[in-house]
Amino acid sequence: MVDQVSSDRSEEVAPETAFSLLTDEIRIEIIGVLGHTPGYTASFSTLQEQVGIADSGLFNYHLQKLTDHFIRHTENGYTLQYAGRLIHRAILAGMFTKRPQTTPVELQDACPTCGTTLESSYTDGRHRVMCPDCGGVSFMSALHPAGLEHRTLTEVLEASDRLSRHGVALTMDGICTHCSGIVTPTIVTDSTRPFGQPFADHSCKNCGLILTTNIGETLLPHPVVISFFHDHGVDLRATRTWELAFCIADEYLTVLSEDPWQITVSIPVGDEELRVTVDGDLNVIEFDRNNRS
Ligand SMILES: [Zn+2]
Ligand SMILES: [Zn+2]
Repeated sequence: MVDQVSSDRSEEVAPETAFSLLTDEIRIEIIGVLGHTPGYTASFSTLQEQVGIADSGLFNYHLQKLTDHFIRHTENGYTLQYAGRLIHRAILAGMFTKRPQTTPVELQDACPTCGTTLESSYTDGRHRVMCPDCGGVSFMSALHPAGLEHRTLTEVLEASDRLSRHGVALTMDGICTHCSGIVTPTIVTDSTRPFGQPFADHSCKNCGLILTTNIGETLLPHPVVISFFHDHGVDLRATRTWELAFCIADEYLTVLSEDPWQITVSIPVGDEELRVTVDGDLNVIEFDRNNRS
């Protein structure tokens, strides 16, 4: 059985070469036109007409610059390749071109540390729910600028939360949300945090992205937690992360052991409490339910 994936690297190009090929507005327009074409494929003449360059020699010069890496010439015409489709989508998502910011808006939820009303804001590609008083960040999620468009504040909050939840689920499956590389968790302690409780850094071996989460948050995709809430008539999917105290407040954690790590998260709902214990890899190693009354 083969358990290692080998890939052909003969067609790889250096990053500076790939990006230098994009330095012309005609080339960006070609990628945009193909990106909006069904099947990402068009003939030379159709492409030239839609890009709107009458000079065939000039148009062909720029098309050839993109051909092989961003575009492939096939018997059906010119097809936008994976790299070209990524550039097209990044442009539409506003990743390289837009820098929206929003002024903070008060939410209805209170800061778990000081009780001040939390605020929602967006800057530098990130949506945050944080406390204007103590500066505590209850929630943060990467959200492309396009995620703000055509949405009300409520819809932005929902989209941001859903993105975060799916991101945590992927991360807990060991897959980087950014590059698809391998992610592993490390339990970290920081004495400057309220209660000095541990949290988790999930780092990607490939791109170096580090996603920081609270321990409680990593349990959100777990069937034990989902079914516990379901039994109490609560749909976890319809509850925002910052509304779930065990996901944002350290007081719900109990450290049983540091070497090896054993941490219990207490999750109270109604008259019952679910206690879930995880190890240093954030695997659930034990759980039980207790009556709170
Ligand atoms: Zn606060
Ligand atoms: Zn990565």
